[in-house]
Amino acid sequence: MAFDFDLFVIGAGSGGVRAARFAAGFGAKVAVAESRYLGGTCVNVGCVPKKLLVYGAHVADELEQAAGFGWTLEEGHFDWGTLIANKNREIERLNGIYRNLLVNSGVTLLQGHARLTGANEVEVDGQRYTAEHILIATGGWPQVPDIPGKELAITSNEAFYLKNLPRRVLVVGGGYIAVEFAGIFQGLGADTTLLYRGDLFLRGFDGSVRTHLKEELEKRGLDLQFNADIQRIDKLEDGRLKATLKDGRELVADCVFYATGRRPMLDNLGLENTGVELDARGYIRVDEQYQTTAPSILAIGDVIGRVQLTPVALAEGMAVARRLFKPEQYRPVDYQNIPTAVFSQPPIGTVGLTEEQALEAGHKVQVFESRFRAMKLTLTDIQEKTLMKLVVDAETDKVLGCHMVGPDAGEIIQGLGIALKAGATKQQFDETIGVHPTAAEEFVTMRTVTR
Ligand code: FAD
Ligand code: NDP
Repeated sequence: MAFDFDLFVIGAGSGGVRAARFAAGFGAKVAVAESRYLGGTCVNVGCVPKKLLVYGAHVADELEQAAGFGWTLEEGHFDWGTLIANKNREIERLNGIYRNLLVNSGVTLLQGHARLTGANEVEVDGQRYTAEHILIATGGWPQVPDIPGKELAITSNEAFYLKNLPRRVLVVGGGYIAVEFAGIFQGLGADTTLLYRGDLFLRGFDGSVRTHLKEELEKRGLDLQFNADIQRIDKLEDGRLKATLKDGRELVADCVFYATGRRPMLDNLGLENTGVELDARGYIRVDEQYQTTAPSILAIGDVIGRVQLTPVALAEGMAVARRLFKPEQYRPVDYQNIPTAVFSQPPIGTVGLTEEQALEAGHKVQVFESRFRAMKLTLTDIQEKTLMKLVVDAETDKVLGCHMVGPDAGEIIQGLGIALKAGATKQQFDETIGVHPTAAEEFVTMRTVTR
């Protein structure tokens, strides 16, 4: 049977664009349907605008440190509208770049919602297209618990387009987005409280990292409330919101921001017309090569719920393009030792096993841990401490995990990701000459076993 396309991609986000471009580059006839925005979550309401707002918030730190270096500044004034307008302009520029990338690589771009009407057929705005392979790369969507007044809360989607910076914000959740946005709001001057339902936020991160970040955020005046959760939200006459907590306390704020995880985006996707099955968590079930339970349909990225990070979606998109159209170049995605950063203030950088995971996996563990005041702060009154930690296998000397909380942690951890992928030992870390004077050199000069 002759198909309209070799590959039909649903969703022009991180994974979909990567798969489409490379498949077209390998000679395939490719279409992409996108209902909302080119570049997907990361470009429009994720990594990119988030990082721009983090940079904006970080300026407050630089201003605070300036006096120690001899600078006298007039009192600063921050304008949220300017930051958002400039951010929006940059996102529009990126949308244009994504459009050019796709069109210039020969991909047919269809604007509209795509719905599967069969194992080899997709409908976009009433028009049906057939394809030998279909790739679902529809990403995820914020998930807010079903409490009375949930419609009064916002999520990351809306936060990027707020008209004004709220004076008082409640951030709910204890994952990446909650911690990052609490830092953004507070750094830009909002009175911010973070409410997390458990004992300590960032479950799954190294214990030292979680405790260290908690202490540093508290030093900065962020109001952290653990074992706290909202039962209902009501609107007051003056327009503000009243959050009633499960323990009966009432908190009043201008904005309640939920960052309680993301669900797969499957809305009106037509999966019922195909043999595609979901896993127990509601994500699309795929095999190691991203094939769903319907052999002509594949899925990648946040919608399969493995590791919800842009570089992972990119790697999966690449793997699919190669698997289908350049099999001799196919290499499976390596899910071990994925470096990642939380752009909190200060940020976290981490790669490999946490101390807890290493112990649980049965390793005999040596821990090297260092806490110090960064050189940049020595001319200021700021008492912030940087944390660096290595988790080492005592028997093989292999470095199992590297963890950091401190300025530039995301930048520093990328290189250590290569070291861990190459299987570096602690001795090789020790024999690496440091870059002086940097904070990063501490990773190659830690000699005393802490535990
Ligand atoms: P997406 O990028 O979400 O793309 C899916 C696309 O499909 C969307 O454009 C959507 O409109 C489209 N679509 C959905 N359904 C249909 C349909 N039926 N028809 C047509 N089109 C459809 N990751 C990092 O690595 N670093 C970060 O710093 C980072 N920060 C983040 C900050 C926030 C606030 C959020 C929410 C996420 C962040 N992420 C970050 C995660 C990252 O954005 C995602 O992992 C990544 O975008 C997933 O890519 P994807 O291709 O699976 O889906
Ligand atoms: P996460 O899954 O990281 O965190 C969700 C948080 O919400 C957890 O603390 C969870 O608590 C809590 N939670 C879940 N359900 C409820 C509930 N019903 N009531 C109260 N609290 C609840 O999700 P995010 O939304 O923060 O981010 C989604 C994903 O996007 C991340 O996991 C990450 O993969 C990606 N991302 C990456 C970034 C980066 O690379 N810098 C930045 C932002 C997002 P508990 O731990 O107790 O379950």
